[in-house]
Amino acid sequence: MQLKNTSLLKSKSYINGQWIAAEDNKTFSVKNPFNNSHLANVSDVSQAQISYAIACAENAMKTWKAKSATERSIILKKWHQLQIENIDDLAMILTSEQGKPLTEAKGEINYGAAYVEWFAEEAKRAYGDIIPGHQQDKRILVLKQPVGVVGTITPWNFPNAMIARKIAPALAAGCTVVIKPSEITPLSALALAELAHQAGIPRGVLNVVTSNNAEMVGDEFTTNSIIKKISFTGSTKVGKILMKKSAKNLTKLSLELGGNAPFIVFEDADLDDAVSGAIAAKFRNTGQTCICANRIFVHETIHDAFVKRFTTEVQKLKTGNGLLPETQIGPLINVKAVKKVTTIVNDALQKGAKLITGGKSGNDGKNFFDTTVITNINASMKLMKEEIFGPVAPIIKFNTDDEVLKMANTTEYGLASYFYGNNLKRVWKVAEALEYGMVGINTGMISTPVAPFGGIKESGIGREGSKYGMDDYMILKYICFGDIQ
Ligand code: ADP
Repeated sequence: MQLKNTSLLKSKSYINGQWIAAEDNKTFSVKNPFNNSHLANVSDVSQAQISYAIACAENAMKTWKAKSATERSIILKKWHQLQIENIDDLAMILTSEQGKPLTEAKGEINYGAAYVEWFAEEAKRAYGDIIPGHQQDKRILVLKQPVGVVGTITPWNFPNAMIARKIAPALAAGCTVVIKPSEITPLSALALAELAHQAGIPRGVLNVVTSNNAEMVGDEFTTNSIIKKISFTGSTKVGKILMKKSAKNLTKLSLELGGNAPFIVFEDADLDDAVSGAIAAKFRNTGQTCICANRIFVHETIHDAFVKRFTTEVQKLKTGNGLLPETQIGPLINVKAVKKVTTIVNDALQKGAKLITGGKSGNDGKNFFDTTVITNINASMKLMKEEIFGPVAPIIKFNTDDEVLKMANTTEYGLASYFYGNNLKRVWKVAEALEYGMVGINTGMISTPVAPFGGIKESGIGREGSKYGMDDYMILKYICFGDIQ
């Protein structure tokens, strides 16, 4: 890996401001999903070392929370600035371990850094309230205080931004953090820690523990009473495991889990816009995002025209090595992911789906799957219920608004949804009826630090970003003054 700033490539855990190897020097291997080549041996730290990181975070919180919001803000802004200055190297690390094209990797670094900048500002606006007292001598006020030490667990699909989105509001609020990145993509997290160090984030405030034993880390986070809050992004399955385990200490939770996003195209939509929105919402990160369009519903009167134009655009997408500038679609994360996508596509084809383009694992390398379009979808197919997490676009015909809304809402997930149309009355009606935390109207791109990202139903709890985002990391304390005569 050719980096301008080689100090960003780290392989040890970052605990209490120091780079620490595993007690027994145990490591796990991180690979490049493009060709499965070895990138680094990363420290596989023990439970005792994670417990030590949590104790250090508790100790560091005393002085971190006592700083003024402006002081915390200045340090966070420095961290943000360093991320922007090092964007080329951060993107190179990200693409190498995750596979997404460099332009998308840079987009992710900018996106993650924008959360740091946003919450550096929001730190100064953690306002409380004064409430008119309920008796003549009473005065009531409400303070917001940091919740405590936060444990975060993040996935491999956005190795940078999923961390930034949690850490920025936590640090802004005055919390300290212990971060457990995905064992598949820990290098981006370690690079962020190095920049945090350079930015002057005090020792113990931000810790990154690298481990190949996610269950052990989950157990430590949920049983160690110092951890007051867990912020998790990943599968609904693991989210539920963490929720169960968190019952022990009633640890607070933010959960950003799976999705099954509908993407609806009504008959009065601008077809070209809808096609480009669907491409963006479907194929970003090779279809490996929790807000990817999973089911594309198109009105029967424009179905064939949409399929034709959409397929033409899909066939233009250039698949390959994310490090090459012309690449638009990278590999899937690993062979397991390729197998899962293959199973989902074969299941649909066996149940009567029609293959328009693609449909098999590609020729470019082991972890590739062809960009795929399929039609003639029915409700019995796995892809109607499960997250595809790959470059496969199922297109479903519909007739009435009620019919499509019913299909769109028939899922236990409730994260992102999208629709294209111009009838004002319908736009309101559909936006209100979609049972999702987020709705994109005439756009396939909805993520931004200024808006609250999050889901309902089994897609999670809590919101990331926006003026609401710091609330997940703060508690309300009500103070009552009496005897004021
Ligand atoms: P994905 O399918 O996207 O990898 P996971 O939910 O399996 O989603 O993984 C997301 C994060 O959760 C990763 O950091 C992973 O290591 C971690 N993880 C996986 N299993 C557990 C578990 N039992 N307890 C705690 N964390 C877990």
